[in-house]
Amino acid sequence: MIEPRPGLGVGGGYHSPQLDVAVRLNTNESPFGPSVELLDKWHDEILNANLNRYPDRSASKLRQVISDYHGVSPDSVFVANGSNEVIQTILLTYGGPERRSASFEPTYAMYETISRTTGTNYFAFERDENLLIDTNKALSDFDENSIDVGFICSPNNPTGLLEDLDIAIRLSGDRLIVIDEAYGQFNEVDSIQFAKGRAELLVVRTFSKIWSMAGLRVGYCIGDPRVIANLWSVCLPYHFDTSKAKLAELAFEHVDEMEARVGFLRSERDRIMDFFDTIPVTYWRSSANFILFRPDSIDGHKLWEMLLERSILVRDWSRWPRLDNCLRVTVGSAHENDLFMEAMSDIL
Ligand code: PMP
Repeated sequence: MIEPRPGLGVGGGYHSPQLDVAVRLNTNESPFGPSVELLDKWHDEILNANLNRYPDRSASKLRQVISDYHGVSPDSVFVANGSNEVIQTILLTYGGPERRSASFEPTYAMYETISRTTGTNYFAFERDENLLIDTNKALSDFDENSIDVGFICSPNNPTGLLEDLDIAIRLSGDRLIVIDEAYGQFNEVDSIQFAKGRAELLVVRTFSKIWSMAGLRVGYCIGDPRVIANLWSVCLPYHFDTSKAKLAELAFEHVDEMEARVGFLRSERDRIMDFFDTIPVTYWRSSANFILFRPDSIDGHKLWEMLLERSILVRDWSRWPRLDNCLRVTVGSAHENDLFMEAMSDIL
């Protein structure tokens, strides 16, 4: 039987187990779904949608709504099925066998995976001892290795730390710098405003976190209209379906709900970090909806197992390079967070 194309690394994939547990705090989803009012409106729209027809190929209404929200022009917006697909389209367009992509580890694993599947040569560079990007080192790493596309995740997954965005400008030059702001709005920084008017910067956002719609798969990026036009010409025709376009459009009529949810999760995040101050763990002060931590007196994987025995699932990073013994907890509902904190007190 024919083998998959060489270099594809088939069988690796994404490493976050989907286990059946009572408290799921492992994939940075929102604990709350979209409101019933919003879903009702969606239902009505779907009843009237012409589902026998292909969708509007350029998702023009959604682009308009997104561009109004961010104060940019509609031709600066590209949408796709989750920000992973946005990143894939960026690398299909600007990566490939003749090109080099890079990021700073530890970071979101899909930059490497999608580089591989698009045949792009990926370079993993190191961070400083505080797990932040060291600007001077990054500049020489990018220059010496002739990087074409760089990924800066801010706040970074899995550390939750914000980067100094000036680094994106310092690194850009002739290359494309992608600022992945999947966890934007869980902090005060707005990379979209920062990147406005800078052709070499692209900002990626998702509906999976602040908009509570991970199950729907909507992501977008905002950048220079010439770059955005290239992404539209590379993605598949009709790649973005009518149904999710409608829900995403309607979501912008419910910005207050989203902001209330985000405000709540920010306060719960602070509550968990205050709790971490009282138990034997080391943690990184997060600007996202998750917190990376390392138990001081027990093996990280053992702690992960003990939480799982209590039907609490967090993300196990304990065997990853640079993240020895670390786990990452997603901020959940108040009740879920209480259960997590009780279990941690109990165990530690
Ligand atoms: N970027 C980062 C930094 C993420 O953490 C994630 C999801 N965990 C994504 C992108 C992908 O999000 P989605 O495809 O759900 O939009």
